[in-house]
Amino acid sequence: MIDNILTVAEVDGFSAMVNQAENIVVTCHVSPDGDAMGAVLAFSHYLWRKGKKATPVVPNIFPDFLKWMPGTEQVKIYDKHEEEVGELLKAADLFVCLDFNEPSRLLNMENAVMASDAPKMMIDHHLNPADFCKWVLSRHEMSSTCELLFKVLAQVDGVENMTREEATCLYTGMMTDTGCFAYNSNRSDIYYIVGQMLEKGIDKDKIYRNVFYNYSPNRLKLMGYLLYVKMQHFPEYRASLMTLTREEQKRFAHKKGDTEGIVNMPLQINQSILSVFLREDTERNVIRVSLRSMDDFPCNSMAAEFFNGGGHLNAAGGELSCPMDEAEQIVKNAMKKYSALLKKK
Ligand code: 5GP
Ligand code: MN
Repeated sequence: MIDNILTVAEVDGFSAMVNQAENIVVTCHVSPDGDAMGAVLAFSHYLWRKGKKATPVVPNIFPDFLKWMPGTEQVKIYDKHEEEVGELLKAADLFVCLDFNEPSRLLNMENAVMASDAPKMMIDHHLNPADFCKWVLSRHEMSSTCELLFKVLAQVDGVENMTREEATCLYTGMMTDTGCFAYNSNRSDIYYIVGQMLEKGIDKDKIYRNVFYNYSPNRLKLMGYLLYVKMQHFPEYRASLMTLTREEQKRFAHKKGDTEGIVNMPLQINQSILSVFLREDTERNVIRVSLRSMDDFPCNSMAAEFFNGGGHLNAAGGELSCPMDEAEQIVKNAMKKYSALLKKK
């Protein structure tokens, strides 16, 4: 059995907000990943099943390897149709905010969402939730927003009513946010939930193939190039760094999501503690920073201190507005500053 995640008052608050709303926008952070898309789609399916008018809205495009997820054809992409989606946001009488903890994570959609005085609901697993939602469920100990959302839907509506589509979306987020149950995944209730999802008829092996055996030839070549040509390894810090310029992305016909997960690969090196990936953004003039770590090395502190970002202990990100060589130097400074934690004791 899994424990109830909500108090009676929280259940009442949730039900009142959903029941009173007639025009619901379900949204997530910019550059949605499997957890963000899984949560947005599962929540939308739940609302549709309840006869609600709900629209899944994302700030910008999501990766091709998530297009197979049930319901993606209904998803509106803000930065592709700003005017049309802007009208939708104005008309919303409830925003469901999933897998993000502060309005800035909506990036270009932030102003349009925050201009609305419609109530907002947050279900999220990042630390330090900002105060912009009327109803907040923030649990950083959850491995994914999808796990948290499973618990919410199971409590407010009953697992018996959950559909296979909803379970498929939620499983996708649980799988991707735990690296296929390889990190943050030692709690037994994760597997209790997966067991319940299998009883709903999800095809977990197919979900795995849909997400991870779905690469373009270019993506695989780009992975090889990054590892063979671009990776710098710093054994004294048990750390690695990879960089990718705009020109290199063009050369490999880079599409959104093509570099997803690549930052994890250098951690496969024996004894590794930290991996840093710098990528020139193709939409804005910034360098996106991704950090991944093992054990208790705090990526989120490093991201906040050096890269204008934040995140979780073992996965964090941020961005820099400078040329690539300066960004590399900042990474090296960061490693130096954290050397006490990185160096072998
Ligand atoms: P990724 O490396 O996949 O882009 O991001 C990993 C995690 O870092 C995200 O799940 C999120 O928690 C956090 N993160 C990424 N970018 C930013 C950012 O610009 N600001 C903050 N506060 N967190 C970020
Ligand atoms: Mn997540």
